[in-house]
Amino acid sequence: MCLGRQMPELPEVETIARGLRSSLEGRTIRAVTVDWPRTVAQPPLDEFRERIAGRRVESVGRRGKFVVIGLDGGCLLIHLKMSGRLRVVPAGEPVEDHTHTIFHLDGDWELRFQDVRKFGRVHLVEKPVQVTAALGPEPLDHDFTLDHFRALLVRRTGRLKSLLMNQEFLAGLGNIYADEALHAARLHPLRTADSLSPDEQAHLYHSIRRVLGRAVADRGTTLDDGGYQDAEGRAGAYQEELAVYRRTGEPCHSCGTLIQRTVIGGRSSHFCPTCQPQQLEGEA
Ligand code: ZN
Repeated sequence: MCLGRQMPELPEVETIARGLRSSLEGRTIRAVTVDWPRTVAQPPLDEFRERIAGRRVESVGRRGKFVVIGLDGGCLLIHLKMSGRLRVVPAGEPVEDHTHTIFHLDGDWELRFQDVRKFGRVHLVEKPVQVTAALGPEPLDHDFTLDHFRALLVRRTGRLKSLLMNQEFLAGLGNIYADEALHAARLHPLRTADSLSPDEQAHLYHSIRRVLGRAVADRGTTLDDGGYQDAEGRAGAYQEELAVYRRTGEPCHSCGTLIQRTVIGGRSSHFCPTCQPQQLEGEA
């Protein structure tokens, strides 16, 4: 794994999708240039080029960490993975390094997908569900209720940190917002899902929604390495609000205890040992 890179999570992808909406909706994709074929996950590249040409963009949204671009025939799903950036720019603007996919739009505009590490993927399918079928619910949806969350937890025994990052459990959380939601809920990242009391379940549900909601309002988190930019090339502001993520050795804003870091499932987890005690009862 790479510590230095920030994978966009729900708030960052939501901000990118909102930024793309006004510049993409109503535009027609004339053609596409792909210089790193593996970026196109499906269909085969020749078919992708043929089917995308002439399609009009009808909507831009998000599902989990995917940008979902609805067309007048099928839809494009783009996953930014570790380093992807999407921008709509005039065709005459110099092309930045690592721009491997360019959608040529009418009116001399281009949607450019820049991806230093080349892990980003583009899918062209009839319906989004062909790509997103396995994703869990959207944590910010109005119909995602506390009862719904409690039902998801039934029979789950995994560590909370790993569970929150599991896209089949809930869609959209990654390392940053899982750590932040657990601190807000005063739950240690190594607690197991089946150890939560009903009150703790409720606290976690509300913390997830509050943290994600504020991060969307702040247009995402941009860490010092500058990995994430929105569709206009701007940084987010939620890094000012982070309580634990990448604050190892700094005092907790709530209690002053120094934030600790541990590795769970190959990912670093940041927590306050006072606010988030690891309850050991029941563990011999
Ligand atoms: Zn604390």
